[in-house]
Amino acid sequence: MTAVDGELRPLARDLVEPPEWDCPGISVHPGRALRNRERLNWQDQPRGRYRVVEHTCCCQAVFYELICVGGIYQVHKVIQSDPPEHAYTGGWRNDEARHWWMRILMGSAR
Ligand SMILES: [Zn+2]
Repeated sequence: MTAVDGELRPLARDLVEPPEWDCPGISVHPGRALRNRERLNWQDQPRGRYRVVEHTCCCQAVFYELICVGGIYQVHKVIQSDPPEHAYTGGWRNDEARHWWMRILMGSAR
């Protein structure tokens, strides 16, 4: 191992949020929120009964679900506090929802 490797490894580790609970290792872990992120408008209720289409890993204090409410898509944010806090954003078509879901995962919208 070179000296450069020794310096890069801890740095790379710092870029990833550490798991807060045991990680099932199946779902994606969203990146850190970027400073210049788009601020989404969050509400405390979904638009109706929904099914979950995608979700991020539940090992983190905050996880996200892409949900479908009768053909309209929203994102559900869960803050795993006691009691948990729920927030919902969006009201998108599928293609718009995929765009915002990716941006939430990348931290460029929250
Ligand atoms: Zn995890």
